[in-house]
Amino acid sequence: MQSPVDIKTTLVCQDSQLMQRPLYWNYVPNNCKSLLNTGGGWKVTVEGQGSCLTGGPLANSYQLLQFHSHWGRCPNSGSEHTVDGRAYACELHLVHWNVDLYNSPEEATTSPQGLAVIGVFFEVGRKNRELSKITDILHEIRNKGDECPITEAINPASFFPDDLEYWTYEGSLTTPPYSESVTWIVFKKPIEISEKQLEILRFMNSSSAEICDDGYPVFKKVEDNCRVVQPMNGREIREAPY
Ligand SMILES: [Zn+2]
Repeated sequence: MQSPVDIKTTLVCQDSQLMQRPLYWNYVPNNCKSLLNTGGGWKVTVEGQGSCLTGGPLANSYQLLQFHSHWGRCPNSGSEHTVDGRAYACELHLVHWNVDLYNSPEEATTSPQGLAVIGVFFEVGRKNRELSKITDILHEIRNKGDECPITEAINPASFFPDDLEYWTYEGSLTTPPYSESVTWIVFKKPIEISEKQLEILRFMNSSSAEICDDGYPVFKKVEDNCRVVQPMNGREIREAPY
């Protein structure tokens, strides 16, 4: 049950039950607290109180925990999920935990139905205004372990495409500990990111400086921080019939 996977659109199952409970979300933009360089990319830590994701494939209520993104060296690689073998330039992950069944994000991470992650694809186009609230301050967290406060409200829902059609399946985290506790909700339609914003992401350092022989510091860049697609092993990807 590992993630990400290649979404083969001709094999997706139509599930009318997904229509009966529309996806519902509520986020508190002021609750995006800090921006961290994890060494594998950036991560926004969120104070979850007041946020809620439910409906669609989710039988319980989930609270937003953090969000981050994956990207590549060139515009045709970078997303973790692929669609009929095609990758997008970037993919955002909004990670939520099940507050009905579990007492903490840690407990939820390793438990069944513990997490719900929304995936949003980005393709190269116009500058993304909401994302610029992150890319504009990314120079403050250039190296692994750097962290800075977020002072401007960021609304996670502004990363949703206008068209809310999605695919859903049961999978895992794509970074350690790769727990198979994730209900994935991947929006079909991409939103836009500018080439300049991608360049800013690629300029992040994945380590602190190492001093090379000539005495100058060298940094490794965060590039292609996406995991390769994993086998479906008989799992189904579902969508609402339209
Ligand atoms: Zn991710």
